[in-house]
Amino acid sequence: MEQQSIVDAMRELTGAANVVTAAADMAPHLIDWRKRHTGIAACVVFPRSVEHVSAVLAFCNAHGIKVFPQGGNTSVCGGSVPDASGNSILLNLGKMNRVLDINAQDNSMTVEAGCILADLQQAALDADRMFPLTLGAEGSCQIGGNLATNAGGTNVVRFGNTRDLVLGLQAVLPDGKVWNGLRTLRKNNSGYDLKNLFVGAEGTLGVITAASLKLFPKPRAVATALLGFDTVDAAVQLGIELQSAFPGELVGLELISQSEFEISLRHAANARNPFERTPAWMVLVELAASAGSNDALADALTAALEAPLENSTIVDAVVASSEQQRLDLWHIRHHVTEANGREGMGLTHDIAVPIYRIPDFVAQAGAALAEHYPQAVPVIVGHMGDGNLHYIAMFSHEYWAGVSDKMRMQSKVSHLLYDIAATMGGTFSAEHGIGSLHVEEMSLYKDAQEVAIMRQVKDLLDPNDTMNPGRVLPARNATPPSHA
Ligand SMILES: Cc1cc2nc3c(=O)[nH]c(=O)nc-3n(C[C@H](O)[C@H](O)[C@H](O)COP(=O)(O)OP(=O)(O)OC[C@H]3O[C@@H](n4cnc5c(N)ncnc54)[C@H](O)[C@@H]3O)c2cc1C
Repeated sequence: MEQQSIVDAMRELTGAANVVTAAADMAPHLIDWRKRHTGIAACVVFPRSVEHVSAVLAFCNAHGIKVFPQGGNTSVCGGSVPDASGNSILLNLGKMNRVLDINAQDNSMTVEAGCILADLQQAALDADRMFPLTLGAEGSCQIGGNLATNAGGTNVVRFGNTRDLVLGLQAVLPDGKVWNGLRTLRKNNSGYDLKNLFVGAEGTLGVITAASLKLFPKPRAVATALLGFDTVDAAVQLGIELQSAFPGELVGLELISQSEFEISLRHAANARNPFERTPAWMVLVELAASAGSNDALADALTAALEAPLENSTIVDAVVASSEQQRLDLWHIRHHVTEANGREGMGLTHDIAVPIYRIPDFVAQAGAALAEHYPQAVPVIVGHMGDGNLHYIAMFSHEYWAGVSDKMRMQSKVSHLLYDIAATMGGTFSAEHGIGSLHVEEMSLYKDAQEVAIMRQVKDLLDPNDTMNPGRVLPARNATPPSHA
């Protein structure tokens, strides 16, 4: 179908005001957050209701038009922009952004998929509750995108991934049929758990249009500390001990290497180093409780840190003494992604291994990089409590500009690191998802039978490959990627 006919049809189905075609208006939707992936589309469609989404998908599926759903466009693996075919539409959920219900007694809220995550956190707080999903992109990402990618973030150690926060879902299937599974039941063993099929499917099986989510008591007390270590072994060992000491209160356990900390200090506005000398490794710890006081919680944390400070396991420590100091510490942590972008060309790897293997991974990955790519600086930040490291091989812009085959080099660096994670029972994609960037790794690192079952599910629900082709699994009829 010609592009103009697609645009006309979209205008008819959703209203002219909800279809964007001007190049300048489309541009921000066709390039990803890190400016590494671009695509083309006939138009950007902003549905306002589930009926709009249903009508658009039914039409596209019947006419062979590919649909690329988009939330806040903060994907870091090329999942949120269309491919280069052009004969497709981009479906941005941003105008479906209503909170439909908040029920404090039920500890639940039901929301449309286009709600910005930070707005939902605030809506929960306004109802004297907490929605615990939190990540650096929370001011832009949408809950539909969080669900589609099963996002993680800094509170997973206590509250789990997005998948663990979902009670019910509404989704539109590739053929336009609406599945309404919006419910807030805690127990419901009546057949297959369909919501978990759509969570983490990255829009390849349909469009998530609304969700019922779990709420938790609002924290009354918070204690935050930044701890310094000479070795990553000491940092991990202490993290494991804190997990045992504060099983109900430990909500954040983040690892930061000296290289990452200094990059963030260099580039994040108003960032201030709380240490006189930056330690080799740091762990940002946060405890939260629904009763008691900040002081009492800080005292409990300080008491737990006494022995490791005395025997020099911890070489330096800052316990936040005010809300501003707490926010300052998190400011450094939350700005690493932006800061890394300014620093150089960072090849980011979102690996996970069992927490106790982190020191092994860091040692082996560092040795492999030093041997094969001595120009790369290892920059490490991660959700240590989940065994999830963002391991960045940082190249200077100057060096990277001179690399002739950038794709090939990126792939070789990545596979060096993924191979090490694989030997430890780890994964190449812990929380960011697959997008278009890691499709090759699916066939290289995942069990063939697992991928085959995924393909069968995709074929069953989306036989025409209408939804997000080439994301998660290769586009149908695509030549399988080769790996040198
Ligand atoms: C600064 C920064 C920090 C980040 N920190 C973290 C972190 O700590 N943890 C983490 O897990 N991720 C993190 N991310 C990655 C990213 O923010 C998450 O993947 C987020 O969940 C994406 O949400 P989004 O709304 O931006 O989705 P998009 O980027 O727009 O889309 C992501 C994928 O979901 C699909 N999709 C979007 N909406 C829908 C829908 N309604 N229905 C079906 N499919 C849909 C898209 O097609 C695409 O495949 C970070 C990114 C940035 C830029």
